[in-house]
Order: sequence, then C-alpha cells, then structure tokens
Amino acid sequence: MRKPVIAGNWKMYKTVADSVATAVALKPLVANANHCEVVIAPVFTALKPVADRLEGSNIHVSAQNCSTEHNEGAFTGEVAAFMVRDAGCSHVIVGHSERRQYFLETDEIVSKKAQAGLAAGLTAIVCVGETLDQRDAGKALDVVKEQLTGSLSGLTASDLDRIIVAYEPVWAIGTGRTATPEQAQEMHAFIRRVFTEGHSPAAADKLRILYGGSVKPDNIAGLMKQPDIDGALVGGASLKAESFAEIVNYNG
Ligand code: PEP
Repeated sequence: MRKPVIAGNWKMYKTVADSVATAVALKPLVANANHCEVVIAPVFTALKPVADRLEGSNIHVSAQNCSTEHNEGAFTGEVAAFMVRDAGCSHVIVGHSERRQYFLETDEIVSKKAQAGLAAGLTAIVCVGETLDQRDAGKALDVVKEQLTGSLSGLTASDLDRIIVAYEPVWAIGTGRTATPEQAQEMHAFIRRVFTEGHSPAAADKLRILYGGSVKPDNIAGLMKQPDIDGALVGGASLKAESFAEIVNYNG
C-alpha cells in the first residue's frame, strides 16, 4: 500500500513570523492524520524556525528548491541540499513548473538537484507537467515522459525509494482550473507505466505520484478516489492552515 502524501507549497509567500504562525496553527489540526504524510514547504528563510517549532510533530518540512552543487562553495545565492537538511528539512521540491518557466531549469538541472537532494538524505518531490499548448497539441504524454526520463536520469534503484513524482499540469496551477479526476488518473497511470518500463514493476508499484493544480478542499475527494493518485501538491489552498488541514484530513 502506498501511503498518501499531502504537501503544501507556500511558494514565495509569508515572512518568518507568518510561516511559524501558520505551521503552529496547522499542527493540532492535522495531529490525527495518520493516514497520510503531511509536508509543508515554506520559503528558505523560514525553514529552520518552522522545523524547530514542528519538531516531534507529524508534519515534515520541505525546501522548494536546492542547488545542483552537493558541497559548499563559491556559488552566490545558492543553498545546498545538505544545508536544507541541516535546517531540519526531510524533503525538497525540484523542477516545479515555476522554476522551469521563470528560472529556465531544464530536465538536466532538475536531475542534478534531485541527485543533490538524495545525496543529502532528503526525499525529492520531482515535478513534471505539460502546458496548455502542449496538451491542446496532443503532446501531453510525450512531454511528461520526456521530463520524467530526463529529470530522473542517473538515479539508482535504491534512490527511487526517496523519489515522489508530482504531476502538475501547468494550465491548472494557480488558475482555479483543476484537471478532472479522469484526466489526472490517465496521466498518473501513464507515469506508472513509464516507471515500469524504465525501472521495474516493483519500483512503479511503490512510487507515490501526487497531483498538483488548484487542489482545494472541495475537489480533493474526487482526485483521491483515483487508483493512481497518491496525494496532492497544494499551492494556494495550503497557505491557510484551515483549508490545508481540510485537504490533509480527507480520508475517503
Ligand atoms: C503548486 O504550487 O504546486 C500548485 C499546485 O499551486 P496551486 O495549488 O495554487 O494551483
């Protein structure tokens, strides 16, 4: 059985004080959510204070990005995965579409970041997803397959235990327009098939695949009923403790 993961991506929102306040408010609201893993991803500056306040709770802390470099060095503005781990994180998100789109991250860069995260002992949440133009042109499956293969290149079979894939159609992120459960299921089943071919049926069976794109308390049930949807990566609706807790606490 795959344990679902509900992860909140806070993007570039919240000061340290606001991040800590939201995390502290969330803690009791999800304290009984043993059916899933709960993850929140604050901005870099809030990682350590949030992780300190959540110590001993069932909420994991994730970074939203990390450097491709494994070791410290003269890389101004970068944060290494081992530093993220040192700050109290257990996860790192890599390849989010906003990073691919605005910071020109390629599959090769995403793969290096995933490897850096794994080498530091983190679980990497690797994001893939097509744009609306690509979907309308009938290329969604090809695009996602290419991103998946490129972003996960160089990983060993044992690395795969600490990989989570997030399928996030770009046209559904922050738009209020979510993929239908059927559209998401089709892509998730396809991702699992790609994993079966590229790795093994056992690795594919264990892989957690999250859906992301305008997930809200009122659409989580339909998504989670799909056999290949193993959780969600939530942006906007994770910014408020109450709405994120509603999503986490769905246990249908
Ligand atoms: C995201 O940031 O990964 C995301 C899915 O955002 P939203 O839920 O706001 O669409």
